[in-house]
Amino acid sequence: MIGLGSAGGLILSYFAGLFLASKSLVPIQKSWEKQSQFVADASHELRTPLSVIQTHLELLFRHPANTIEQESVTIYKSLSEVKRVNKLVEDLLTLARTDSNEQLIISQWFALDEMLQLIVEQFEPIAEMKEINIEERIERDLQYFGDKDRLHQLLVILVDNAIKYTASGGKVSIICMNAANLIQIIIKDTGVGIPERDLPHIFDRFYRSNKSRTRAEGGTGLGLSIAKWIVEAHHGHINVESKLNEGTKFTIKLP
Ligand code: ADP
Repeated sequence: MIGLGSAGGLILSYFAGLFLASKSLVPIQKSWEKQSQFVADASHELRTPLSVIQTHLELLFRHPANTIEQESVTIYKSLSEVKRVNKLVEDLLTLARTDSNEQLIISQWFALDEMLQLIVEQFEPIAEMKEINIEERIERDLQYFGDKDRLHQLLVILVDNAIKYTASGGKVSIICMNAANLIQIIIKDTGVGIPERDLPHIFDRFYRSNKSRTRAEGGTGLGLSIAKWIVEAHHGHINVESKLNEGTKFTIKLP
């Protein structure tokens, strides 16, 4: 404090204190804003299907003499929206648990190749219905130490998306190999692709590239943020490459 009296030093340290306080408040403010945005987005996403269900139920009440058969379309639509709410709540709970830093990863040795094989079998009927060809190149005897349920959830999210966003006649490839102690999983499709401007945001919560289309596909916009969390909780890395109208490729590297 050369050349400054004690009052000057006091003023300087006061402003230094204010500066430091304001700097430490920035992350708190940011996280508060993020949290509020998340609550707003979640409420909005929940409100939409709930309003649809309400409208359908009111419609049913207006024609009490109609049979279930006559009202089957309205009932079917309501059921789809109930499924959407369920999925949304399930995804929101997963994300809330990841935010609260609960111990969510329970690792064990398991056969990753067998898990992938089962996922392919699980999706084959849906792919067949859409006339999508599933190509699989899965290395045998791939033992992996990780959270079996979470990794299953991750792969289901990616394969489900690949099939959802690929038109009839397209192809989905599921590739898995062990390269220098790194498990590499590739889920590739010849689908609609993601516009370049959307790629940096694709793992953000509630981000959907084409809102009306993805909503029609039953998407919540939460799948990829959960997928990213699962990969990172295993100290891995996920990346996406995509070309509009050509297809999308997700690559996961797990140590
Ligand atoms: P959603 O439940 O809407 O599918 P995700 O978080 O899983 O949510 O994906 C976010 C968005 O990324 C999707 O809405 C879609 O626009 C885009 N997307 C994800 N996977 C693919 C894919 N394989 N092909 C094209 N677009 C995709």
